[in-house]
Amino acid sequence: MKTSAQMNPAQSAMIAALADTVDRRVIVTDAASIAPWLEDWRGRYHGSAPALLAPSTTAEVAAIVRAAAEYRVPLVPQGGNTSMVGGATPPADGSALILSLRRMDRIRALDDEGGLVVVEAGVILQTLQEAALAAGRRFPLTLGARGSATIGGLVSTNAGGTQVLRFGTMRGLVAGVEAVLPDGTIHDGLAALKKDNRGYDLTQLLVGAEGTLGIVTAATLRLVPAIAARAVAWVGVHGPDVALRLLRMLERGTALIEGFELLPAESLDAVVAHVAGARAPLSGTHAWHVLIEAATSDPGVDPAAILEPLLADALAQGLGDDAVIAASEAQAEAFWRIRDSISASERAQGPATQHDISVPVDAMPRFMTGAAAACQARFPGTHASGFGHLGDGNVHFHVRAPAGASPERWYAEEAQAVTAFVHDLVVAAGGSISAEHGIGQMKAAELERLSSPARMAALHAVKHAFDPHGLFNPGKLVLAPRASTP
Ligand code: FAD
Repeated sequence: MKTSAQMNPAQSAMIAALADTVDRRVIVTDAASIAPWLEDWRGRYHGSAPALLAPSTTAEVAAIVRAAAEYRVPLVPQGGNTSMVGGATPPADGSALILSLRRMDRIRALDDEGGLVVVEAGVILQTLQEAALAAGRRFPLTLGARGSATIGGLVSTNAGGTQVLRFGTMRGLVAGVEAVLPDGTIHDGLAALKKDNRGYDLTQLLVGAEGTLGIVTAATLRLVPAIAARAVAWVGVHGPDVALRLLRMLERGTALIEGFELLPAESLDAVVAHVAGARAPLSGTHAWHVLIEAATSDPGVDPAAILEPLLADALAQGLGDDAVIAASEAQAEAFWRIRDSISASERAQGPATQHDISVPVDAMPRFMTGAAAACQARFPGTHASGFGHLGDGNVHFHVRAPAGASPERWYAEEAQAVTAFVHDLVVAAGGSISAEHGIGQMKAAELERLSSPARMAALHAVKHAFDPHGLFNPGKLVLAPRASTP
């Protein structure tokens, strides 16, 4: 079992001061309770922290942040710890304390008429989705980690997921944010104002800030009408170019398409091999697969009746080899389970480097094919491929190590060069090295390497203005605050 670090004098003084002001459940120093939160989901980053702070109110968060500011103790905000970029893992030297928001788990208000919900940072995405559904509404953002990811994490990473095509990323669904800033003051921006021109938009600045500017304690989120009916289809296609033409054709035919996920045969094979009960939806062999969801909130509309003739046309035009529409909700869920299990099943396939990247949507098919070939030529024995949100111009481009490669050697000796190679291709294609997962610690150096001086200067200036002592999530997103120029 991992042991927690020893407290340094500043941490001891901070904890002693805090003990007088907060509930005793807030301060956790027992190593066994801290251990599960010291490693990231992929098991790639291993941190250390002598204490985990678990407030249950905004006032307690503010008290913690004030004490941290006074004693100059860094804090690492953490929600569900499902970050794909080591964003919530504390540094290995034990210099920071974990600030867990998971006990802030109340839904403060749900206005079904107005389509708004005020939720605390620790509310789990699935809990919010269920609460919205019970009120006849829907929170449309969803992703594979919905059973663990929290609202604070989703806001702070500007999460994307599988329904971005129709509803956008978290940024578009956040109507307001309450946050504790690095000096311990509380920014109360929960009011959902349609119009608000009081200068810089603090709420949107905090969205995607990865805990480096403020601790999100609550958010006002937009709800949409509940789904009355949906049709979920699985289509076998030749390649990403055909898949994108299929999407464009479907979008011309209906406004109901809200999910369009592309996966190569090997991702499906990995899920079938490693996930209990998973079965291929189509009987034949297909190089690529597309998962499509068409949904409506209008009880008078039948999405299957709309999708079926469109897919028949698509097959007739060569935009697919075979297709099936789920015959029941259970089958629709089984199709989605395949998509949601890709990351977990890939972990069982040996070492790989993952790249969450975006390029302009129309350029993505050519990028995927070209980048895979270039990677495999440059790093013999590797296998490169992408899967995911083709309609958003965002795929998860993974390069698997040669068969039999030792994980330690791969990560120590090859992975960095592979990642630099892929990122250079992305930048050359006018894309982004982080489409939806954020920068965290995994990509902080690459962000510095590949960003324009103007972008980096602005990021550093914002960070320094909010957090001059670099106490919020050190080592993530921007590497170190630069001294301001005189
Ligand atoms: P954490 O991992 O705990 O933290 C993430 C970041 O936010 C860290 O930088 C942390 O410091 C900061 N943070 C957390 N809470 C707060 C807070 N209250 N205030 C300030 N900062 C905070 N992401 C996608 O976008 N799309 C996907 O499709 C997707 N699929 C996934 C599938 C799987 C199986 C897994 C494991 C992850 C997936 N992710 C996806 C990544 C992850 O789920 C998201 O990044 C999610 O937003 C993280 O939420 P969390 O609560 O786990 O945050």
